This record gives sequence, structure tokens and C-alpha cells, in this order.
Amino acid sequence: MRGRPCAFYKAQKMTLKNTEFTVLGAGVAGLAVATALAQRGAKVVVLEQADAIREVGAGLQISPNGAAVLRALGLEGALVALAMRTQAIELRDGYSGDPVLRLEVAKLRPAQAFHLVHRADLIEVLRKGAEAAGVELQLLQRIEAVDLSGSTPRLVTATGAERAAGFVIGADGLHSKVRGALNGAVAPFFTHQIAWRALIPATPGDAAVAEVHMGAGRHLVSYPLRGGTLRNIVAVEERRQWVEEGWNLRDDPLEMRLAFDGFSPRVQGWLEAASDVWLWGLFRHPVAKQWFSQRAAILGDAAHPTLPFLAQGANMALEDAWVLADCLDRLGVAKGLPAYQALRQFRCAKIVQAANSNARAYHLREPLRAVAHLGLRLGGAVAPGLALRKFDWIYGHDVTVGG
Ligand SMILES: Cc1cc2nc3c(=O)[nH]c(=O)nc-3n(C[C@H](O)[C@H](O)[C@H](O)COP(=O)(O)OP(=O)(O)OC[C@H]3O[C@@H](n4cnc5c(N)ncnc54)[C@H](O)[C@@H]3O)c2cc1C
Repeated sequence: MRGRPCAFYKAQKMTLKNTEFTVLGAGVAGLAVATALAQRGAKVVVLEQADAIREVGAGLQISPNGAAVLRALGLEGALVALAMRTQAIELRDGYSGDPVLRLEVAKLRPAQAFHLVHRADLIEVLRKGAEAAGVELQLLQRIEAVDLSGSTPRLVTATGAERAAGFVIGADGLHSKVRGALNGAVAPFFTHQIAWRALIPATPGDAAVAEVHMGAGRHLVSYPLRGGTLRNIVAVEERRQWVEEGWNLRDDPLEMRLAFDGFSPRVQGWLEAASDVWLWGLFRHPVAKQWFSQRAAILGDAAHPTLPFLAQGANMALEDAWVLADCLDRLGVAKGLPAYQALRQFRCAKIVQAANSNARAYHLREPLRAVAHLGLRLGGAVAPGLALRKFDWIYGHDVTVGG
């Protein structure tokens, strides 16, 4: 099924005019879908559990497929003003620091921008976009239960209050209540990998390069943010011991430093500078089987949580948001919802699977590691564009013209 160019909407009357939607969650998926629906004339309320939209999270990479949605929502300029444009993605040997492969994304794909942005800045761009489109955002609205059994969805808040919703959209992340109501409980499993994230001060002028430092059973990703004044670090280690899945667990920076003992002086220097460190356990969740009912739909992490190894969580959330609003607008609820799931489920499952495989490739142990690094070095020297072409199906896809 093909979508239509976004210019199409300008020429059409808005079929969603005054249709009411309640979106759970003011993350990337929730704010993007709320904006896309409101721009088509819908009346949208977003319920967010937090007491404020504040500076949480660290860095995100917005690839061309995600940026295409922000462009279609009229928000690309605001993103560009706050983000850094990625020049290259570099794989390095974690111990020596030597380059293994450099993907010159800016040179090889000049028409497609890759961006490095603080999650809080992207959320602010989306929040302002939602506000301009007329979306109503209600904070301190934690939804404890979602009942989809009746003719209209019923939501129960943390205070026990009941709310009816015309149509409910679950953008409520990893532990989504709407996903649970549609699919029942499905237990995720611990991947035996944990990740630390930290922000450190950086030297303004640091090149906008996303570096991946690979070691046996561990890797570390780092790139500058906010004009090079901050540096984002995500450090992943394989571990037997279970760690909680969530965004709010602090850890001792020493733990992270010890895990990367033996890495290059460049990496050690970054880790020395980290004082505020957050830890999260990496779990695998199956992609949801059922993405909608008559009066509900899910998107983003609520539908397909992913490991972070391809940096596609936020990008998939943006793609979903566009496609869901587009399908509802063009096809109506009865046909639009199955079309939405059909357009998104296979692509998201394929991206989630590709992210799973990347972890294995980054964490190789000797002797495989030496062979694989040699292959990458030779490949990069002989055909520098080939490694990037492998990902064209992700980055080159524009849901705003192609569904
Ligand atoms: C606090 C936080 C920090 C993050 N930091 C990073 C990071 O540094 N790097 C990275 O790659 N990814 C990070 N992520 C995840 C990343 O934003 C998502 O993987 C991706 O953007 C997909 O977004 P989403 O909107 O589907 O889910 P999320 O970004 O998780 O958003 C879900 C939203 O729903 C709200 N919510 C959840 N349950 C309820 C409920 N019951 N009632 C009401 N509201 C609810 C949450 O508070 C949140 O605002 C973070 C997510 C969060 C919530």
C-alpha cells in the first residue's frame, strides 16, 4: 500500500475534523502523532504521567527516515536549529582506538541529513509543534488501567478517576498499558546486556562524528551534542546479572569505568569525566501482534521496543506517527487501522531484528574479532559506500511519500 505526498493534505478537506483522540504519553511517539492528527483537524488530548516536560534523557540520533516526518510536520527547521548534523559514523577498535571503518554519511548522502540531538530538545520541538497545532497536553495524568471491552475505551488514572475516550492511542512506551489491553501480558527477556548512559562536558568544535568503540563483550557509542558543548555516552556490557529496565536508575560511575578498563585513553578520558551515570537493563520484547482494536491503537515503543544498537527507536516512533495519522485520515478507522498495522509491523520487526544482530557484531571476541575488523577495513577501503548502502532500506525510506 502506498501513501501520498504530504502536499496532498493541503488540497484535501480534513476528514478527521473534530474527531476526538486521547493519546497516552508525551514522548516522541505521542507528541508526533498528536501533532499529525491535529494538523488534519482532529481534537487531540495528550495525557502524560510526568509533572513537567523536563530535561530528561540523553542523546538521540535522528536519521533521514525520522527527519522526513519532522519535515512533513513542519518541524525540521526547529530540529536543525538545535541538533548537530552528523558528518560520519566511525567504528573503532575499543582497545587501540584505531579506526576500523568510517562511513562518511555527509559526503556520501549529501541530500539526507543525519542529526545528533538531545532527547529533551527533540521533545521540546515536538511539544511546541503540538501546541501550535492545537493539541491539549495534560500533565500528572498517570493511567493505571485501560479497558477496551466496551463500546468506548475507559481509562483509570492513578487517583482512581475514570475517563472515557473517543479513541485511545497508546504512546506510553516500554510498559504500555494500551499494548497490554490489546495483547495481554507478554514477558520480555533479559538480553544479558546492560547499558550506561552519561553526558559529559565537551570541547566546542568537536566534530559531529558518532563513534562506536568495540571490544570483546562490550562497546561504547559517543557523539557530541548541542554545538559540541556536551558529549553523549552509551556504554554497553554483556552481563549475567539482571538489571531493571527503565530510564530512572542511577549507577556509580566507577562501575562503568571498571567495565571499560583496557579501552583506549580517549575512551578512558571520557569515562573519567562522567559523574552522573544512568543504568538500564536491555530486554527483548516481541513486536506486538495486535496494534489496534476498533477504538484503540499503539505506536512507538508501546508496539515495538528495540535495543538501541541501530538508533532507530525514536525514528520508528516518528514513522509510526505519520503513517497512523495518514491511514486514519485517508481511509477512516475501519480500513485505516489494519492498513496502518500492515504498513508498519513488518518494517519495524525487521529493524528490531537488525538492531539485535548489531550487538553481536560489535561484541565479537578473538579470533573472530580480528577477522571481522580486517574485513571491515578492507571493505571500507575498496568500496566506501557499500557498508552504508546496506542500510538504505532504513535511512532511505520516507513514509511521508511512500507509506
Ligand atoms: C525519561 C526517558 C528518557 C529516555 N532517554 C533516552 C536516551 O537517552 N536515549 C535513547 O536512545 N532513548 C531514550 N529514551 C527512549 C526513547 O525516547 C524511545 O525509545 C523512543 O523515542 C520511542 O519513544 P516513545 O514515545 O514510543 O516512548 P517514550 O519515549 O518512552 O515515551 C513514553 C511516554 O509515555 C509516558 N507514559 C508511560 N506510561 C504512562 C502512563 N501509564 N500514563 C501516562 N503516561 C505514561 C512516559 O512518561 C513518556 O513520556 C528515553 C525515554 C524516556 C521516557
